[in-house]
Amino acid sequence: MGPGPSCVYDEVYAALAEPTIGHLDPLFIRIMDAVKEDLKAIIGTSNRLTMPMSGTGSSGMETCFVNLVEHGDKVLVLTNGVFGKRMEDVAGRLGAQVDSLQFEWGTPVVPALAAEKLKGEKYGIVAVVHAETSTGVRNPVREIGDLVRPTGALYLVDCVTSLGGIPVRMDEWGADALYSGTQKCLSCPPGLAPLSFSDRALAKLKARKSKVPNWYLDLTMIMNYWEGNTRAYHHTAPVNMIYALYAAVRRFLDEGEDKVHARHRAAHEQLVAGLDKLGIPMYVEEEFRLPMLNAVGIPEGADDAGVRSRLLKEFAVEIGNGLGPLAGKIWRIGLMGHTARPENVDTLLKALTVCLKR
Ligand SMILES: *Cc1c(COP(=O)(O)O)cnc(C)c1O
Repeated sequence: MGPGPSCVYDEVYAALAEPTIGHLDPLFIRIMDAVKEDLKAIIGTSNRLTMPMSGTGSSGMETCFVNLVEHGDKVLVLTNGVFGKRMEDVAGRLGAQVDSLQFEWGTPVVPALAAEKLKGEKYGIVAVVHAETSTGVRNPVREIGDLVRPTGALYLVDCVTSLGGIPVRMDEWGADALYSGTQKCLSCPPGLAPLSFSDRALAKLKARKSKVPNWYLDLTMIMNYWEGNTRAYHHTAPVNMIYALYAAVRRFLDEGEDKVHARHRAAHEQLVAGLDKLGIPMYVEEEFRLPMLNAVGIPEGADDAGVRSRLLKEFAVEIGNGLGPLAGKIWRIGLMGHTARPENVDTLLKALTVCLKR
């Protein structure tokens, strides 16, 4: 019940244990194609280039910037937590002129302020995190998309924590590049980063004057492995992780998107009600709370690290600490994917009651 990795589905563990076959085996290529179709469905896109990158969520972030940024490009990041900061760092290392608009941690990006910023300058890319895992805030990505589109900038959205827990609608938002990760609400182990590029993003990639400055994440080469009739070796695909992702997305689609999202909401509401009885406040305003990542105020007099280590040692429950300016102020309780169940919320609330009484 931390901020990820989440509990893994049994059928995902079973998929990991299947025999490893060749990464160019016709059966494996069929699995790759099936994964691409399923990812399109859960991301809400018809983009041809939709596939999982090797590596954790951060490799998805790096892939977006490294393929879309050229030296001197202007990038705007709308930042309100750790992962917005990470985007600034990644874009800056590529020689982008990074500009940012900072919002207080625990509060959402304010579209009206982003609109003002966009009036003053022309950007090549505007980036934002949908679900800020460091603070438990949902950013208004649809409203921001409406502002970015008329400026001609590419719109990049981090959906690492949101995908699988709240609706992700890439095409409706007008997003051009989007990435996620396997170990949050998809309830798979860490190791892959689902990613999608729009035709506009692909056009920018094709029009580059310079080579993509990272061999491993260069989509112009990776596409030749993930698409077409003749598949060309680039790097050996993490075969069993792709089985695992396939099992996880099948599980999501079989349960049904609406039901999965409702399960997250219900677990969240149960948690909020239980915490309220314990006198533990939520840190984020109701409208912008994430169901899968609950930032809660640490009660007066409670020992932050002591409570967390007791929960883990005595009750086998993990919760997360606060990061950066929120260290020592909040706990982060994850209800991601398979973890979002009433029995887990019950266990945590009972354990927390015992720990806080002591
Ligand atoms: C977890 C996370 C990442 C990074 O993913 P890793 O799997 O840790 O590399 C990026 N963005 C957000 C919003 C995240 O929650």
